[in-house]
Amino acid sequence: MTTIAYPNTQLLIDNQWCDAASGKTLAVINPSSGSEAGRVAHADKVDLDRALAAAQKGFTTWRNMTALERSDLMRKAAALLRERADKIATYMTIEQGKPLGEAKVEVASTAQIIEWFAEESRRVYGRIVPARAMNITAMVLKEPVGVVAAFTPWNFPMNQVVRKVSAALATGCSIIVKAPEETPASPAELIRAFVDAGVPPGVVQLVFGNPAEISSYLIPHPIVRKITFTGSTPVGKTLAAMAGQHMKRATMELGGHAPVIVAEDADIALAVKAAGSAKFRNAGQVCIAPTRFLVANKIKGEFTEAFVKMSEALKVGDGLTQGTQMGPLANARRLDAMAKVVADAKTKGAKIVTGGERIGNAGNFFTPTVVADVPLDASLFNDEPFGPIAGIRGFDTIEEAITEANRLAFGLSAYAFTKSIKTAHMLSHNVETGMLWINQPAVAVPEMPFGGVKDSGYGSEGGPEALEAYLNTKTVSITNV
Ligand code: NAD
Repeated sequence: MTTIAYPNTQLLIDNQWCDAASGKTLAVINPSSGSEAGRVAHADKVDLDRALAAAQKGFTTWRNMTALERSDLMRKAAALLRERADKIATYMTIEQGKPLGEAKVEVASTAQIIEWFAEESRRVYGRIVPARAMNITAMVLKEPVGVVAAFTPWNFPMNQVVRKVSAALATGCSIIVKAPEETPASPAELIRAFVDAGVPPGVVQLVFGNPAEISSYLIPHPIVRKITFTGSTPVGKTLAAMAGQHMKRATMELGGHAPVIVAEDADIALAVKAAGSAKFRNAGQVCIAPTRFLVANKIKGEFTEAFVKMSEALKVGDGLTQGTQMGPLANARRLDAMAKVVADAKTKGAKIVTGGERIGNAGNFFTPTVVADVPLDASLFNDEPFGPIAGIRGFDTIEEAITEANRLAFGLSAYAFTKSIKTAHMLSHNVETGMLWINQPAVAVPEMPFGGVKDSGYGSEGGPEALEAYLNTKTVSITNV
């Protein structure tokens, strides 16, 4: 058992850790036991007003520092995270449920993301354009957009925050983060690393509270110039509409329903291993998790048998227990959602090949579940399951698989397994998705764009595109008189 005690979490405003002015707090529940692990401060408007004023001041300070100074501070924050990784990962497992090994990977990748953005921050270039007269200098300047408001979910408590904070800081913006109330301690440690590294007051603020109250106060507020949100498509549409109404820049990283196309010539063992690990990572509560397995009819039997064997071998348990491969679901809402998906699949005539049930009655444990012969009208093949359920369906031709992949309004991620370069290219050009991984699990590295199309949102949280989203473009033309 761990000796690391789970902390209470405060707000960070103007580099001061503080309770909410009202003194209000919310309970943080350990999903493994169902009992209270700690408390988190609940901000109201008075706290948000302080955060806004601090962020406005912080923006002036930060944008007037050199890219090199900003980059150095970001690197220091990454180094602090690496030093503190064991403690932070333990907090994450206690509040979110994922196995400690996965939590450690998330902390390490958080540090990597900061480092990549710290490097990229030194390459935010404008350009000089050949002018139409010799005495004119025509320039394109890139400037930070201003104060950013970020809203992040509970499935990757640090990773969802770091992509936003790093891009904002790399471009000279300040930021107010509304992090998840259900998993507050690990993102607070991320923010602490920036503060301890020496990032000036007001550059980064951290608040928690009622998500809808906070977003409807911050998004229209004149101090906020950009919003960024990760979460479900329905909430994203509401926030994007609000941003549009107030003419705020927005990045939306929303839900997905990833197809996995397993072609007749696929390496079946690789497909089972790669897509299987991606499926059950974080108990399937991943926006890019594989969900709709479309398998060539000729190999469907063999694939299903191997996939079921792999699923049944997974060790489900408390994330802090050594050997656990899948933890509990992060909150009780997901248990209810899983039960509904399974019941609906049964009603519609699908076959529950393995799993489909809650484990025990303490904590949010659910069996890794495989459902075969899923009809197209089943909820499992239409609504984002966001849990450890894989649905399998057969196809005869690749064209048929592509049509099914593109049938839904989602377009976040997709996977395929094939040995044919022709099929790989055909899929690359025809699957409507923001990200496609062929013959591998998802690799969401910071140097590659990360984002969706269609109802899965817009904007990118990786690659140079991620910085562009936090920059204004200014045309300046000077006649030398
Ligand atoms: P939800 O849709 O209410 O919340 C999702 C996230 O959005 C949470 O972090 C929540 O705090 C935030 N949120 C909700 N309403 C908000 C508002 N008005 N303003 C600002 N933030 C708001 O429900 P949930 O039960 O937490 O999650 C359910 C669904 O959300 C999942 O089934 C999944 O589809 C989606 N989700 C997606 C991601 C992702 O990485 N894209 C992460 C978590 C949840």
